[in-house]
Amino acid sequence: MFPCRSTIYSSIKAWTVHEQNRMWQELSGCRQAKYFLPGFDLVRARCALRLSRKDLRILIGIFTGHADVNRHLCIMGASQDSICPLCQEDENTSLHFIAQCNALVLLRKQILGDYTISLYTLSDIHWFLLLKFAKACKRFYRPSGLLGLCTGPMWPQRSVAAYVVTPFAGKCKVR
Ligand SMILES: [Zn+2]
Repeated sequence: MFPCRSTIYSSIKAWTVHEQNRMWQELSGCRQAKYFLPGFDLVRARCALRLSRKDLRILIGIFTGHADVNRHLCIMGASQDSICPLCQEDENTSLHFIAQCNALVLLRKQILGDYTISLYTLSDIHWFLLLKFAKACKRFYRPSGLLGLCTGPMWPQRSVAAYVVTPFAGKCKVR
């Protein structure tokens, strides 16, 4: 007997999800993002699509590490120092900021529920709470008008008034 149409559709959908997860896990890059998003998650995808552009940028910065954190700025050649400006104990990555920075333990406990977070439980944290934590720290914010790459030491040393954007060779500099 031939399977009904709905059975065929659900089989194709299950195979698609399985393949997406397999390809995601076999992908050699995206190390940080895999801690936050280990596999296909339609509920979270819909949640992300409802976010404002500003919040989505913050969330993507947290996931990818492509944000105004010193480690990323060093890779881009925009900073000489990759160390966390708050605790001075480790490289300033989004993983360090969300899960491990000792300067943020009280705020982390208050918002995320523990003083430090295991990297392997990051995917259990609701994205709303990640955003709340990032916003409470005023981290990952970028003053309006700042269009691209910033040079020099970033947060917390600079005030918003310190940012002046000058387009240069497709990038923007802060002077
Ligand atoms: Zn730190």
